[in-house]
Amino acid sequence: MKVCVIPGDGIGVEITAEALRVLEALRGDGLKIEFEHALLGGCAVDATGKPYPEATSKLAREADAILLGAVGGPKWDTLPREQRPERGLLGIRADLGVFANLRPAILYPELANASSLKPEVVSGLDILIVRELTGDIYFGQPRGIEERDTQWGRQRVGWNTMIYAEEEIRRIGRVAFEAAGKRGGKLCSVDKMNVLECTQLWREVITAMAAEYPDVELSHMLVDNAAMQLVKAPKQFDVIVTGNMFGDILSDEASMLTGSIGMLPSASLDANNKGLYEPSHGSAPDIAGKGVANPLATILSAAMLLRYSGEDEANAVRIENAVRKVLAQGLRTGDIYEAGTQRVGTKEMGDAVIAAL
Ligand code: NAD
Repeated sequence: MKVCVIPGDGIGVEITAEALRVLEALRGDGLKIEFEHALLGGCAVDATGKPYPEATSKLAREADAILLGAVGGPKWDTLPREQRPERGLLGIRADLGVFANLRPAILYPELANASSLKPEVVSGLDILIVRELTGDIYFGQPRGIEERDTQWGRQRVGWNTMIYAEEEIRRIGRVAFEAAGKRGGKLCSVDKMNVLECTQLWREVITAMAAEYPDVELSHMLVDNAAMQLVKAPKQFDVIVTGNMFGDILSDEASMLTGSIGMLPSASLDANNKGLYEPSHGSAPDIAGKGVANPLATILSAAMLLRYSGEDEANAVRIENAVRKVLAQGLRTGDIYEAGTQRVGTKEMGDAVIAAL
């Protein structure tokens, strides 16, 4: 595999270094993997004047997968919008056409106290949200704000278009059914078919696909109920698939059930399972350079990279088990520290994961 490594800014540099060491340890054990480094975000602006330089685009397009840290920081906050680090992130996602966003929310039993919900409701939680990332009301045309005659007189109205083509639903459906098949075998499709025609089509297409995946048990839920069920009884879910807007909201809700932003990986995939893998958190300027950031979200993103782009389930599981082991040993970075555990830095956490491998 050719992996394009993009550390980015702030703690991105420290946490990707640890994920890379974990992958290198597996390479020492027979994994065939090569790395190329590229710039994105603030550091790319400093070096080239652009947040997403052509050289990075070329390397990212040529690679089988991209491992990304995080971008941004106060140093670049006053730049014009086009030069902001976040533009680099949107640029690379659009450039690679990654339409399937996979966000697992796992609560390791050792971290059950980190959640704002009762430990018995969330302990052992392990769900995966599959969110469509490039369609829906966020991208639908027409859209705009203009003055019109209304029942309240002439005034501005704003409107957006929620739109999905059948094939657009089918391709995200395939990702979700396949993911469910590799996990607990349960898929819940979330829509608002009682009110929105667009999501009525969503339900019809997903329902028709179920016959191709006899091992997966499909259910449907309206989005308002799903939001409620996620905080009431989140462990009823295995994989959830939904559109861009509902997925945006539900994936943030689900990730916060775990209470630990430093633990959450993500993957964004294209039709060929080429993917961009990154932690769900940002560049944490407040702790950057101090060697205290939690590298586990990025290490778990590397596990997802092996699973989805490398079709290497065995090594993905090895990394995930190693992470479970260091948590069971009581090692904690500052963000997940609690009395009675052992506080460690970024590099010590990386060392411990490698030792556990
Ligand atoms: P953030 O996620 O960077 O930080 C929020 C809080 O969580 C901070 O207190 C931080 O110290 C802590 N935190 C985050 N990751 C951690 C880790 N691995 N270990 C320990 N603690 C961790 O969000 P923010 O402060 O809103 O944003 C900071 C910068 O990051 C901004 O420039 C923002 O634009 C950028 N950002 C980038 C991404 C990305 O690259 N995908 C995502 C979100 C924010």
